Amino acid sequence: MDAKAYTEKILTSIRECSPGQTEFYQAATEVFESLVPLLEEEKRYQEHSILERIVLPERTIIFRVTWMDDSNTIRTNLGYRVQFNSTLGPYKGGLRFHPSVNLGIVKFLGFEQIFKNALTNLQIGGGKGGSNFNPKGKSDAEVMRFCQAFMNELHRHIGQTRDVPAGDIGVGAREIGYLFGQYKLLTAHFEGIVTGKGIGWGGSFGRREATGYGSVYFAEHILNQHGDEIKGKRCAVSGAGNVATYTIEKLHSMGAIPISCSDSRGTIHHPKGIDVKTLKAIKEVGRESLAKYAELHPDATYIPLHNYPEGGHAVWTLPCDVAFPSATQNELNFVDAKNLVANGCILVNEGANMPTTPDAYEYLRAHGVLFGPAKAANAGGVAVSQLEMAQNASMQRWSFAEVDTRLFGIMKNIFDTAYATSKEFGDEGNLLMGANIAGFRKVADAMIDEGAV
Ligand code: NDP
Repeated sequence: MDAKAYTEKILTSIRECSPGQTEFYQAATEVFESLVPLLEEEKRYQEHSILERIVLPERTIIFRVTWMDDSNTIRTNLGYRVQFNSTLGPYKGGLRFHPSVNLGIVKFLGFEQIFKNALTNLQIGGGKGGSNFNPKGKSDAEVMRFCQAFMNELHRHIGQTRDVPAGDIGVGAREIGYLFGQYKLLTAHFEGIVTGKGIGWGGSFGRREATGYGSVYFAEHILNQHGDEIKGKRCAVSGAGNVATYTIEKLHSMGAIPISCSDSRGTIHHPKGIDVKTLKAIKEVGRESLAKYAELHPDATYIPLHNYPEGGHAVWTLPCDVAFPSATQNELNFVDAKNLVANGCILVNEGANMPTTPDAYEYLRAHGVLFGPAKAANAGGVAVSQLEMAQNASMQRWSFAEVDTRLFGIMKNIFDTAYATSKEFGDEGNLLMGANIAGFRKVADAMIDEGAV
């Protein structure tokens, strides 16, 4: 069968066996379309049924989470852990707590994670998990009881050489602490079974900053390749969580101007540059709305969600040189891509997972906008998670500077790999294709070595 027909056959089979999993289908389509030139050249992937195997999670765990709220009412949520692929190492990937979480979302994230983790060149497989639990508006005690109930089931399936979850949307230092504490209580083992731990109890310096810093390093590598640099660039950033905050912090330190941030209720535009201290105080510490930012900085503008332009997002209407979508999937659509191009944006660098819709991506490419794909651009988080695992296993502690230097090198290596692969397959600079092929090839070759399992 020719390569295109082979990919289409597998995509059809996903549609049939997992109906309604739109985001998973979107993620698989993007990867498979990129793989066609490789599959044409290398027949052995088809001979070993790699696509058939790689789209199926090795294991999917779905469980009920029962917990008690502050008014002593019993509440229920669904918990998920999708252990997608362990060819290169223990399953690794975050947990997301958000009301939108369902099996299709967890599978899209887990599928992406396989290739992202392979690109880091570290020994980690791909997995992802989460729950439709909404931490917003819950007390600390409720969040703790939920995390404990979640771990009551999850602990049976994880382990430091088996599956090591981390944070994602709605899961930060507080949740990781409660999850770790409950694992310890249940098993009587003090082990590195999650990453993103506190510095005082097994965490790594630089893990909190890693995804955002890594994303800016990746953007710098792209710009350097084109004889340019991030310094002096006006950067539109979406999101106001872990990835966005540390993207903004690193942009400042590299001499760029991060002019925006956003949360699920609105966007802040601060032309002279987002004040990181205020941002952290409002979102990391206070868990409040960004509306407060404009009260504290009268020269900033707050654009509430209901004032967003028709079919688009306020943050992408702001004139900028570089865009860093760092909130959630499909947050940068066709209308947004048109606005960015019209305003002179030269690079879109994905901090979030799959933030750019396929039609937006096509529009950006057709108009010569450079593109840092999520699998590569946001791989810094999982890379430093693996460094946390390495420190735990060897009972060592590396300095912030040491971790940051390694992170910079890993991001450079990922860029070089994606770039070289794009060149090898005749589309120099197409980093989406380069990253997908390079990540896939590493996993697929190892799958062949490990036999039909
Ligand atoms: P956080 O929960 O820390 O922050 C998410 C931010 O995005 C919040 O400001 C949130 O708003 C906003 N947001 C979330 N969902 C929506 C939505 N549907 N519409 C508008 N705004 C939304 O998550 P992270 O920063 O950790 O993750 C952000 C993205 O980066 C995700 O795609 C994640 O998968 C990806 N990622 C994260 C990594 C990590 O290390 N944390 C690693 C690699 C990728 P509000 O404050 O109102 O909730």
